[in-house]
Amino acid sequence: MYQEALVSTLVFGITVFQGGCASLPIVVNTWPWPQATDAAWAELSRQSANALDAVQAGCKRCQDDQCDGTVGFGGSPDENGETTLDAMIMDGTTMNMGAVGALRRVKDAIGVARSVLDHTEHSMLVGDFATDFAIENGFPEESLSTNESRSMWEHWKKNNCQPNYRIDTVPDASNSCGPYKPRSSEYTMPRPAGSSVNIDETNHDTIGMVAIDATGKIAAGTSTNGMNHKVPGRVGDSPIPGAGAYADDDVGAAVATGDGDVMMRFLPAYQIVESMRQGMTAESAAREALARILKRYPKFSGALVGVSKTGEIGAACTGFGNFAFCVRTPESGATQIQQVICS
Ligand code: ASP
Repeated sequence: MYQEALVSTLVFGITVFQGGCASLPIVVNTWPWPQATDAAWAELSRQSANALDAVQAGCKRCQDDQCDGTVGFGGSPDENGETTLDAMIMDGTTMNMGAVGALRRVKDAIGVARSVLDHTEHSMLVGDFATDFAIENGFPEESLSTNESRSMWEHWKKNNCQPNYRIDTVPDASNSCGPYKPRSSEYTMPRPAGSSVNIDETNHDTIGMVAIDATGKIAAGTSTNGMNHKVPGRVGDSPIPGAGAYADDDVGAAVATGDGDVMMRFLPAYQIVESMRQGMTAESAAREALARILKRYPKFSGALVGVSKTGEIGAACTGFGNFAFCVRTPESGATQIQQVICS
């Protein structure tokens, strides 16, 4: 049963996840946001249970709650002070998906992503055109700014726009605000390998969620407001299939959180699913996908979670002390928060 199979031990006061099998149905999501797990679970418990609806409901709950300020409205103001949203939802039965990138002035990013899935043949819409689509589909247009996001932005402006993500600019972005132009030089200094200068535990996070219903249908999704002080127009890994999330009923699913600019170069969610397809456990697959990133970006910071189609879970992380994620199955009773210690 779940208690025996999902092995945890207490080390230094942390409940440490060591990989293991749960049972179906199952909901797993990044970070200690059990209200999202419970919202997804409630959806899975309905008679017409549907993994896609569960993922949508779980991510929406975090958007509404502004989980950690990094999901939903009112967080991560960009250089202009605006919050923009990335989200995706993927159906592992049909391999269909819907996503939005840099969505402006609409709060329910996962809902709009679901509309892209349900009401278009496209996979992703971005920016103002995604907003137009959302409005057509009945989503209200409203500001995503809050007093908190305004004050974060003002504080950043007063701090000479530090930190930021610009490189090799005039004026020098390491000690000034824009507008920036490229530094005109025949040779531009490459950023040192493996650096990820602006990422820390406080300025980003994503809800990444996997749901498998009792019949084995799998869905995965993400929702985030991205990175604090990002360059306007920046889209992270979260809406990119195979980067932020991936699902395939034949194998399982995976989700990612962390430095999305680096992660999207490695498609770690896809990698985990493909490694599981080749026979790896979820845990080995997550570790191996992380190792591929760390080999090239040793200072990378992020966490990956894989879930096999039978409900076996594996997680791996780096750059944080530890990484917490939520799991709910019929045997778990309530949602359990599990942790892995990061490499
Ligand atoms: N991956 C997200 C992004 O890059 C942020 C996070 O999950 O921490 O937008």
